[in-house]
Amino acid sequence: MSEHLLHEPILDWYDAHARELPWRGPSASAWSVMVSEFMLQQTPVARVLPVHERWLVRWPTAAALATEPAGEAVRAWGRLGYPRRALRLHASAVAIAEQHGGEVPDSYDDLRALPGVGDYTAAAIAVFAHTRRHAVLDTNVRRVLARTLDGVEFPPAAVSTAERLRSTDLLPHDAATAATWSVGLMELGALVCTSQRPRCEDCPVSDQCAWRAGGYPAYDGPVRRGQIWNGTDRQCRGRLLAVVREADGPVPQQQLDAVWPDAGQRTRCLTSLVEDGLVVRTDAGHFALP
Ligand code: SF4
Repeated sequence: MSEHLLHEPILDWYDAHARELPWRGPSASAWSVMVSEFMLQQTPVARVLPVHERWLVRWPTAAALATEPAGEAVRAWGRLGYPRRALRLHASAVAIAEQHGGEVPDSYDDLRALPGVGDYTAAAIAVFAHTRRHAVLDTNVRRVLARTLDGVEFPPAAVSTAERLRSTDLLPHDAATAATWSVGLMELGALVCTSQRPRCEDCPVSDQCAWRAGGYPAYDGPVRRGQIWNGTDRQCRGRLLAVVREADGPVPQQQLDAVWPDAGQRTRCLTSLVEDGLVVRTDAGHFALP
């Protein structure tokens, strides 16, 4: 399908309301788009912006990042969270330098073959960096389509083949318009049709929304993953990694012991950081970035 009733109102709304972001627009490089897609996977735009800017100043190309050790990427990642993304981005930069002449590849298949690049990220880079025609199914896009078309508050946990086919079918025919449609859906989900408090009075497709028309039936699917943070292994790993990242040299065990009281959890998390390659143990038994 190349025309759908949702297209025009969402494209017009995006035209009027899109945020200006450094990885959008004609002057953004494919590398800038790629870095943003890694950073935005689990981190809000406001926290990504300053880190993305410093990253692009320091490493304006994938080849520039590839010349540095992976630990520098982890250090520059700072407090964005889920720091394995920094290692994957570094590994991708090395592969781009070695196999693609330093240029971010433009086909979905070449992107998907890069280390740590999954289906969503490959599609997003192909679409937003190279204007390829692909469905881009992030959580915002999926939620807007679940509400407008399926009449449910949230989509299922995993993307089904039927959902993927429908999203591809929904794409405007022209690749450039299809890319704008995808980013428009994402922006609508981020700014208006939010997870917890959708602002339906400001929504350009409120008259077409099946969930709204049905009286907002309550979600009755499986329990959704919560955002518990205090006391979790993720919080513990974050504290330990921050000590290593912000130190000038290798860190002794006692310095790590001081930031997390539960010895068992601390040991488990430190071991997992070493196993993930985010931290290395030096010959002297201290801890450092790789
Ligand atoms: Fe989302 Fe409300 Fe718009 Fe439906 S009407 S798409 S629930 S913002």
